[in-house]
Amino acid sequence: TEEEKDVKERSYHALMMFTKVDKNRSLQDKFRVAMLSLVKYGRFLEGEVLVLHFVCDQASKELGEEMLQEFLIDATFKYQVLFHDVSALTQKLFPIVESMQKHFSSGSGAYYSDAIFFLSVAMHRIMPDSLTRIVQLDLDLKYRENIREFQEFHRFPPGAVMGIAREMQPVYRHTFWQYRKENPQTKVGEPHPDGLPGFNSGVMLLDLAAMRASSLYNQLLEPEHLAQLAAQYRFRGHLGDQDFFTMIGMEHPELFYPLACGWNRQLCTWWRDHGYGDVFQLYYRCDGPVYIYHGNCNTPIPDD
Ligand code: UDP
Ligand code: MN
Repeated sequence: TEEEKDVKERSYHALMMFTKVDKNRSLQDKFRVAMLSLVKYGRFLEGEVLVLHFVCDQASKELGEEMLQEFLIDATFKYQVLFHDVSALTQKLFPIVESMQKHFSSGSGAYYSDAIFFLSVAMHRIMPDSLTRIVQLDLDLKYRENIREFQEFHRFPPGAVMGIAREMQPVYRHTFWQYRKENPQTKVGEPHPDGLPGFNSGVMLLDLAAMRASSLYNQLLEPEHLAQLAAQYRFRGHLGDQDFFTMIGMEHPELFYPLACGWNRQLCTWWRDHGYGDVFQLYYRCDGPVYIYHGNCNTPIPDD
C-alpha cells in the first residue's frame, strides 16, 4: 500500500496548479524553465522520493504528461507524478471557501470555479491525513538551489502552520489604504523589517498536520470570523489565498514562519510605475542569496 511505501521511502511532496496550460504558450514556457531548473539542482538521498502533484484539467494533464517525459529525463533522483482533477478538488473545496471568496476574489459574486485559488487555505481538509507536509509552488519559478534544501518545516516555531515569504511590492500598502488612514501608526502594509507588508503565495510550505491541529487556524476559516476580520481591516482583495494569509497574518503573525526573501524572489515591478515609485525599493529589496526566482506578473527571469 501507499502507506507502507512511505515508511520505506521518505517522500517529499510538491504541488503545482496546472490548469488551462494547453491554451497558454507562455505558461508552457514557464513550466519548462521551472522543471528543467528543478531537475538540474535537485538532489535527494538514497531511499527518498520527490512526489510531484499537479492539479489539472484533462487537456492540461495530457500535455503535462508529454512535457514531463522530456523535462524529467535527466533527474538524478527518484520521483513520482500524481495528477489531481481540478473539478474533483473544486467540489470538495467550494463549501469550505465559498464565504471567503467574496472578500478575496475579484467581481461581486463567489464564482464556483474561483474556489481552486483557495486550495492552499484548505489543503489540510482536502488531502488525506497521511499527507502531513507539502510545498505549493507556482509555475513561473526558476530554481537555483536543490528543492530538498527547501524543507524548513523543522524550523517552524510552535503554533506556526505554514512557511511563506513576504510580498515584495507595496500592493498591501494599497489594499489596506483605508485602515492605514484610520490608524496612522500601524505596521499594517509597512515594509519589512519593521512593518507587515503581507505575503506572496508563489512558494509555500504547508504543514498540513499543524494546519489540522491548530484550532486558531481553523476558527479563522469560519465565515463569521473572517467577516469580522475583513470588517476590522476594511479589507477587500482579489488575490485569493495570499489575501487570506495576509489578512489573518496581520492579526496572528505567529501562524506564519517567514521564509527568507531568497526563497521567493519576486521580480514584478508593476506597483513601482503605478503610484508607489517613492517607496517601492523599501519593499522590493532582497539581500542575500536567491534560491528561487519568481517571475510574477510575466516578468522575465534573469539567465544567471
Ligand atoms: N495557473 C494555472 N493556469 C493558468 C494561470 C495560472 O495553472 O492559466 C497557476 C500556475 O501554477 C501559476 C499560478 O497559477 O504559477 C499563479 O499564477 P501566476 O504565477 O501567473 O500569478 P502571479 O505570480 O504572476 O501573480
Ligand atoms: Mn507566479
